[in-house]
Amino acid sequence: MAGTKKNHKPILYIVIPCYNEQEVLPITSKLFEGKVRELIEKKKISDSSRVLFVNDGSKDDTWNIIQELSKTKYFEGISLSRNRGHQNALLAGLMEVKDLCDISISIDCDGQDDINAMDEMVEKYLDGCDVVYGVRSKRESDTFFKRFTAESFYKLLNFMGVEAVFNHADYRLLSSRVLKEFAEYKEVNLFLRGMIPLVGFKPDTVYYERHERLAGESHYPLSKMLSLAFDGITSLSIKPIRLITMFGGFVAILSFIGVLYSVIAKIRGQAVTGWASMTSILCFVSGVQMISLGMIGEYIGKIYLETKQRPRFIISERTFKRKEEEK
Ligand code: UDP
Ligand code: MG
Repeated sequence: MAGTKKNHKPILYIVIPCYNEQEVLPITSKLFEGKVRELIEKKKISDSSRVLFVNDGSKDDTWNIIQELSKTKYFEGISLSRNRGHQNALLAGLMEVKDLCDISISIDCDGQDDINAMDEMVEKYLDGCDVVYGVRSKRESDTFFKRFTAESFYKLLNFMGVEAVFNHADYRLLSSRVLKEFAEYKEVNLFLRGMIPLVGFKPDTVYYERHERLAGESHYPLSKMLSLAFDGITSLSIKPIRLITMFGGFVAILSFIGVLYSVIAKIRGQAVTGWASMTSILCFVSGVQMISLGMIGEYIGKIYLETKQRPRFIISERTFKRKEEEK
């Protein structure tokens, strides 16, 4: 029951998308295993808890490493048929575990997010929360530029009407009932951190410090971050279209003043001058129209992608058998 203290030991699945992470996996997998063992020893979670890696079509040795790891007790893995990007890979993992676990925690595999925040996340679940967001309290390990762009990203999202938690990425705990409800969200344009708040249930936050990557390189340069922000906004909000409408209204009022002005000038016999202002207005208005059309085109593009209802990911291999396969 919501809001009441849960007293059975929940099965935890830690879901970790991995793309070309052969350098960092051998290091962080030990940390994840250590955390699972620790939580089991503290009797916070069930001994059936696992770490599930999602290989997102890596081109390096990542899948081999995952397969090796899965020979030991606490690891399992699934492999996507090709690279589908972080959000799709994470969704694949979450959908895979929704019927296997009581709680899932999603985290990146590079060790940037402090795994010690998991204790508090599990604690909050046991206290009756269904969603626990991991929020970065400091960004000192990031450069000024990364920090500035990332924080502007959240501000822009909120301004554009996307209900995303400030400084929260994809490190979060979700209970299985949230996962089961979330399975009904069938869209192909994914922006998980903006979609999860829509599901509802009782949320809470846990603060942690973000570290540097333990090894390997980031797959999120500025260009990808911009496109993620843009995608997030157009997937979750129609505020940009509304802003265009408002701006259209503003331009219409300006035009009305312009018309009045030119009529008066004509009556006073001051016409013909004003070539420069004519051209500027023309250029400005056609620029605005182009941008507006493009913006609306973005939405039509999304509708196009959504109507196809293509699968969001395809799982090609598993290191374990699913229940229906065992029969
Ligand atoms: N990732 C993925 N598919 C991709 C790109 C990234 O599964 O196409 C994974 C990656 O292995 C990591 C997580 O997504 O576990 C976050 O990526 P990264 O650390 O490169 O991003 P950053 O932390 O720099 O934003
Ligand atoms: Mg990272």
